[in-house]
Amino acid sequence: MSKIQPQADGSIWYCKTCVLPNTRPNLRIRPDGSCDCVAMSAKLDQSEADRLKEFELLVTYAKDKNAEYDCVIPVSGGKDSTWQVVKALEHGLHPLCVTWRSPGRNQLGERNLRNLVNLGVDHIDVTINPLVERTFTRKDCSQVSISTGYLRRELSRRIWKH
Ligand SMILES: [Zn+2]
Repeated sequence: MSKIQPQADGSIWYCKTCVLPNTRPNLRIRPDGSCDCVAMSAKLDQSEADRLKEFELLVTYAKDKNAEYDCVIPVSGGKDSTWQVVKALEHGLHPLCVTWRSPGRNQLGERNLRNLVNLGVDHIDVTINPLVERTFTRKDCSQVSISTGYLRRELSRRIWKH
């Protein structure tokens, strides 16, 4: 059973609403057991209909570009990225999905990613030079609060040249 309250021993615990773990970078779980994301979404004053209308305008904008891809979706194969791909496809978008092949990917992660790609999308699986990855992973491990931020920024810089 998931823990929903902070543990003094530093063990992992989860948001009682969305089940994100406290190990997720920049996520703070409040004393009531809900994370910042839940609190932020509760503050949104837009109705669901307004948000859908705004999203549909964005979809129209992307489609009107007539580019090879309408959007880029960073994917892991987890529930969030799979949901994003499903929604993009439901709205007729042609996404390019991109994954940083993390050193921790296991068979279940691989299967989930295959399932996502089999929804019918183009996918780039990026493997970083292991020497570079090792350097950034060491730096991340020595600064736990930063987590994989260095690696993601480096990957973004190399792919998009900014
Ligand atoms: Zn949450």
